[in-house]
Amino acid sequence: MRFIDPHIHMSARTTDDYELMAAAGIVAIIEPAFWLGQPRTHVGTFVDYFSSLVGWERFRASQFGIRHYCTIGLNSKEANNEALAEQVLDVLPLFLGKEGVVAVGEIGYDDQTEAEDKCYRAQLQLAKDLGMLVQVHTPHRDKKRGTSRSMDVAIEMGLVPGSVIIDHNNEETVQEVLDRGFWAAFTLYPETKMGNERMVEIARRYGSHHIFIDSSADWGKSDPLAVPKTARLMLERGIPRPDVEAICYANALAAFGQSGQMMEEHWLTPQPRDERLLYQGNSVLRGQEPRVDELPVIPEREERLVIE
Ligand SMILES: [Zn+2]
Repeated sequence: MRFIDPHIHMSARTTDDYELMAAAGIVAIIEPAFWLGQPRTHVGTFVDYFSSLVGWERFRASQFGIRHYCTIGLNSKEANNEALAEQVLDVLPLFLGKEGVVAVGEIGYDDQTEAEDKCYRAQLQLAKDLGMLVQVHTPHRDKKRGTSRSMDVAIEMGLVPGSVIIDHNNEETVQEVLDRGFWAAFTLYPETKMGNERMVEIARRYGSHHIFIDSSADWGKSDPLAVPKTARLMLERGIPRPDVEAICYANALAAFGQSGQMMEEHWLTPQPRDERLLYQGNSVLRGQEPRVDELPVIPEREERLVIE
């Protein structure tokens, strides 16, 4: 089975994670722009961070055989530094049109302040103007109200529900998100919040329509293998395989594939891994021997017929 993790912050993860993720069958990931654990103080650090998401991290993932996409936006926590937020909003259009950017995100509410609301609306407007998808981070506190409000405002700003991915759902929010036609993503945390046992029961109750899962793994306690591990648990607990495949792969592709940036052919016909490649003169090798895979051998037509 192939997997997509449509929400993971790889800039904070190690090469071991990339190796394990590729070995577990993760073929593509989406890295949303988020905060770094402490607030930034200059617009330049945002610019360099966004540049790394569309540049170095995309290259780094490719060196482990994983296709990397990202979303670009001003996160809700840092929206509260209003002077800086204005400057960040100004630079966003420079990055939203870059290759591999699948949505404006992750944006939304944290403490549901006035400043957050202002930035959320400004970025929804940007998405509407550019014809882009939106990836919404719903608040961890006062979640039900914050989730409803995220959807209300998206509709008020003229977004189509099918172009908006609502993330960090739980049992309290999923029904309304699905009823209103949005995509419902679930972040699976290893111990607290939304665990994978609970996700099995959600899949049993709601099926797979418009539902998918992610790890949101970052610099905190989190599990970059949450998607494949939950897939296995779902199968063990009797969730039908087509539902598991939809929740762990196909629905994320259907949602973010609407961007025109993310296509299955990107990983079904991969380039062979070649660690001799460089990005702006740098490799992931740190002086070690490069791994270079053979080109896949494509049989002649007659042989292929025999195989088939
Ligand atoms: Zn995130």
